[in-house]
Amino acid sequence: MRCPACGNLMIVVEHENIELDYCVNCSGVWFDAGELELFLETMELEGTSLSLDDILTSPEAESAEKKRKCPICGGKMKKATVGHEPEVLIDACPRGDGLWFDSGEVGQLITQLPEKSDSQGRVITFLGEVFTARD
Ligand SMILES: [Zn+2]
Ligand SMILES: [Zn+2]
Repeated sequence: MRCPACGNLMIVVEHENIELDYCVNCSGVWFDAGELELFLETMELEGTSLSLDDILTSPEAESAEKKRKCPICGGKMKKATVGHEPEVLIDACPRGDGLWFDSGEVGQLITQLPEKSDSQGRVITFLGEVFTARD
């Protein structure tokens, strides 16, 4: 699959049975819809603003960023914001194929997770293991 941001071929990284497509060139990450669901479940983050349904039903975000194409269907992706202070701008396939995070955007969101849960630490550990293993 090609990176929607830079066009490089992405690599598949697998950790705890969750597969992500990762671009080694620009460090962006693609979550397939099913993988995102599995990821949120594994991290106990169901019901947060990261759910694909919520993102797809939310209004399109104003952005000067170029529209990107979904790496699965080739359709133009919708810009959506998730999180607060700062809002993180992500790309979502309007057909629901998945979500694209630019480099660092997953990290920005993680710092906003509720601290009462273990989710924050779990996600950081997860991503740390995924990405350091492949460098
Ligand atoms: Zn890339
Ligand atoms: Zn698509």
